[in-house]
Amino acid sequence: MEIKHLTEKVAYVPNPVNIGVVRAEKSSVLIDSGIDESVPRKVSRLLEKPPLFLINTHSHADHCGGNTFLKKRFSTRVFAPELEKEIIENTILEPFYLYGAFPPEELRNKFLMAKPSKVDETLKEGTLTLDGVKLEIVFLPGHSPNQIGVAVENVLFCADSVFSEEAIEKHRIFVVYNVTDFLETLDFLEKTNYDYYVPSHGEVTQNIVDLARKNRNVVENVINEILEILKTPFTLEELMKKLFDRFSITIENLTQYVLYRSTVQAYLSFLLDRGEIEREFKENTLLWRRV
Ligand SMILES: [Zn+2]
Repeated sequence: MEIKHLTEKVAYVPNPVNIGVVRAEKSSVLIDSGIDESVPRKVSRLLEKPPLFLINTHSHADHCGGNTFLKKRFSTRVFAPELEKEIIENTILEPFYLYGAFPPEELRNKFLMAKPSKVDETLKEGTLTLDGVKLEIVFLPGHSPNQIGVAVENVLFCADSVFSEEAIEKHRIFVVYNVTDFLETLDFLEKTNYDYYVPSHGEVTQNIVDLARKNRNVVENVINEILEILKTPFTLEELMKKLFDRFSITIENLTQYVLYRSTVQAYLSFLLDRGEIEREFKENTLLWRRV
């Protein structure tokens, strides 16, 4: 593990979830804490100043799984947006909403359920000054309900608002909670002009227009494939099978299954609300079809 400097005060530690590091007067501010305690333990050894502040961009377990270590070891003050805060404090909510009820043990794992931890302050959009350093909190919803990004010294830590090319190659269809918000966030990002964009998964980029376009292409491809498949009425399970076959996705465990299913349901909400598909109950079966 190494620390990569982008500007005088701003750096990040490349990791499956990149960890943002901002040097303040007497402390470091971290952005996201990684999947478990091992991440901030290693990151903290690379820092000149103790990580007394942590900003969680959103509540997914791979972004807040290290919170408990930071609280125990450094009494770190933790910030998160509304709603994301409640999930970080009650982490059963993630496997609960993905599964739809009390989740089986297979889903109560570190990828979906971090150790619960207290969030000290709710983040609002705008300027946040911590230990002499000014941070700009930017609202980036879509991947999760109230995801935020953090801008410092013209570097934007943009969380999971855009996925790097490698992440797109790996997942094919990335997790989306609200398709409309996700697309609006891409539009917003394209109009911004930061020197560096640090997505949580993959490489730093200076070309946000290109990366936003690649992300929008994925969303548009998923929409078009779903509309194509639903020329014939299908159940959710049947639709998922056909869609995953088309994207060469292989489901191997329940964790992957609920993440993809939730994303497909986000697309169904989007298309249903736009009147492009409709739903019908036939012999106690819910069928989706193109209008
Ligand atoms: Zn996420």
